Amino acid sequence: MNIRPDSSIKRPDRRGTAALGATHSTSRVKADIVIAGGGLAACVVAMRLAEQGERVALIEAGENICGNHTWSFHRTDLDPSDYRRLGPVIAHEWPGQKVIFPRFTRSLTTPYASITSDALRQAVYATENIETLENMRVEEMRDSGVTLGDGSRIDASCVIDGRGFAPMEGLKLGFQKFVGVEVELGRPHGESVPTIMDASVDQKDGYRFIYVLPLSPTRVLIEDTRYSDEGTLEFEALQSDILAYAANRGWVVKQLIRTENGILPIALAHDAEAHWSRVPSHLAPIGMRAALFHPTTGYSLPIAIDTANLIATLKRPLTTAAVRKAVEEYALATNQQQAFFRFLNRMLFRAAAPRKRYVVLQRFYRLPQALIQRFYAGRIRPTDKLRIVAGKPPVPIQKAVRCVSEARALAGE
Ligand SMILES: Cc1cc2nc3c(=O)[nH]c(=O)nc-3n(C[C@H](O)[C@H](O)[C@H](O)COP(=O)(O)OP(=O)(O)OC[C@H]3O[C@@H](n4cnc5c(N)ncnc54)[C@H](O)[C@@H]3O)c2cc1C
Repeated sequence: MNIRPDSSIKRPDRRGTAALGATHSTSRVKADIVIAGGGLAACVVAMRLAEQGERVALIEAGENICGNHTWSFHRTDLDPSDYRRLGPVIAHEWPGQKVIFPRFTRSLTTPYASITSDALRQAVYATENIETLENMRVEEMRDSGVTLGDGSRIDASCVIDGRGFAPMEGLKLGFQKFVGVEVELGRPHGESVPTIMDASVDQKDGYRFIYVLPLSPTRVLIEDTRYSDEGTLEFEALQSDILAYAANRGWVVKQLIRTENGILPIALAHDAEAHWSRVPSHLAPIGMRAALFHPTTGYSLPIAIDTANLIATLKRPLTTAAVRKAVEEYALATNQQQAFFRFLNRMLFRAAAPRKRYVVLQRFYRLPQALIQRFYAGRIRPTDKLRIVAGKPPVPIQKAVRCVSEARALAGE
């Protein structure tokens, strides 16, 4: 259990600036666990293992670990113990949430929370057993170590692949794309809880809604989101739509604080068995690299936490093979449980006309709150599935029937 910091491995600046420049060195470092990628899944797993006394090397190709996100979740997505553990990085919490559709507005009492990239980054930097290398690419991964962009190697008994999403054969996708703008307003906005979806807006480019997080009495994060067939983002157009939305709400923008954007995968069909059979045996992927995300929201925080808990229970010393086996089994089981979500996604993307996709969600949000909570947590019951599909479908019946077969969707029909 030994990391040897030397001239090539600089201790990260605890204030969060990129302390590791492109230092080229061939020196070697040893760690128990090396994680390629310093994104959400990698950081959550690294913190969980470091808490158990493991020494973790986290290697991030970008300037900083954790990127530039606001990661949100429903409090009911997590077990209470996981929620408590996440406590120090929770930047905002709200006691409820609401949704707005053309036909109704609904308030829900499900608490909502966000963690920010900055909060998670600082927590990782402050964790004793984690050594972070930024601006450093992992060029090669073996089951016993990695080779970095500067030619140096780090050996470890356990190497985890957290390099983020990569297109996969056998994974058919739609997209959830969005731009978020955090603004300071001239006057209080009067919002006390997040608006998870305001779908009363013009339905262009698929299912479109505005997401509003009130961060302080005068500060809001406003996101324009589209469930679209196209995985391309016109940043300026969405940003100006956001500012138009703010103006329409009577919000006077005093200052633009920051922006964020993303194109998240929405799974329509997934042959996970075939995917895993193609993942080289020396790799142990986690997070998006392992297609571990909620098929309908594209979010992955709760699943990353489950993965961290799973790895935390494995026998020591941890090995790449043991992590690979455990995560593969978990991913295959999760994929089976998610089949119904992919069916609903096919209904949304393939059966509903783009401008009418909102009707599917409008109908869903009339269901009981507890069911909605289980849906977001990815833990729906057989009776929930029946309730979701019962009655007259909100899309043409013939098209809905064609969406039933995942095999057909995989075959591109
Ligand atoms: C703006 C935005 C907002 C979001 N909001 C939410 C939300 O509210 N809730 C939620 O659950 N999800 C949200 N998501 C989705 C969530 O961010 C992703 O699902 C999550 O980041 C995936 O985690 P990951 O660790 O698998 O991959 P990533 O976070 O993408 O991390 C992968 C990391 O690996 C690094 N990397 C890649 N190749 C190499 C290499 N060769 N060597 C070293 N490093 C490498 C990348 O630079 C990157 O930092 C959001 C996404 C975006 C873009």
